[in-house]
Amino acid sequence: AACAATDFDFFYLVQQWPGSYCDTEAGCCFPGDEKPAADFGIHGLWPNYAACRPDAATPNRTSCWPDFCNATDTLNLSLIKGMEADLRRSWGTLSCKSKDATDFWSHEWSRHGTCSGMGQHAYFRSALDLKARLDLTGALLDAGIVPSDEAEYCLGRVRAAVAAATGGAAPMLECNRSARNETQLYQVYVCVDPDGRTLVHCPLPAQRGCTDMIKFPPF
Ligand code: 5GP
Ligand code: 5GP
Repeated sequence: AACAATDFDFFYLVQQWPGSYCDTEAGCCFPGDEKPAADFGIHGLWPNYAACRPDAATPNRTSCWPDFCNATDTLNLSLIKGMEADLRRSWGTLSCKSKDATDFWSHEWSRHGTCSGMGQHAYFRSALDLKARLDLTGALLDAGIVPSDEAEYCLGRVRAAVAAATGGAAPMLECNRSARNETQLYQVYVCVDPDGRTLVHCPLPAQRGCTDMIKFPPF
């Protein structure tokens, strides 16, 4: 129906910088031991609430997003066959627990995709199309934010560089700690309308775990 209700307010399209995933105590691994390109990769497309609310299923708990919406709807690889090469390039895994990207996609579908209101094909297509439209790596380079072991960048400048790539919609930035305990840009969250296509300003905090000056390590 034209007015089908989604019970979430927006998506986070979450992309990870491989340099910051790998430069940690835990480190990283590559499928087939082939190092991927020095480019942001998709982590997920996550339905989200604009405000946390009481969790219907668990008394005294709040939930800030829906997840695992349908336990029986598991990923069927045959439905995304035509996208597999694109997915391997744009939604690769860096985890050492499983070097199989299909495990990552299956987890993301079960936890987040099942709450998206989309079918499996449309969900993965939307994430790939969003990423293709949003050249984060290029936008940072254009703004003079280049991967470096030494440079430190102002958080506001990084945020503005990403906003330039989204047409003005400001993102949420997440930082992690390097093996040397430095704060570095780990993930970029851009907010997307529940239609899966329209970029919107992120209505929640501007950052997680970042300091005013952050690193952007090489990969
Ligand atoms: P972490 O605790 O590592 O930041 O996140 C663990 C998992 O919780 C993520 O992989 C993701 O599935 C989920 N998660 C974390 N933050 C958010 C959020 O803001 N929104 C949604 N929808 N899921 C999140
Ligand atoms: P989340 O639940 O936070 O959406 O996803 C995190 C889960 O996906 C973890 O169980 C993690 O081990 C697995 N995973 C597999 N590959 C990756 C990867 O490249 N990046 C991240 N962040 N998690 C991955």
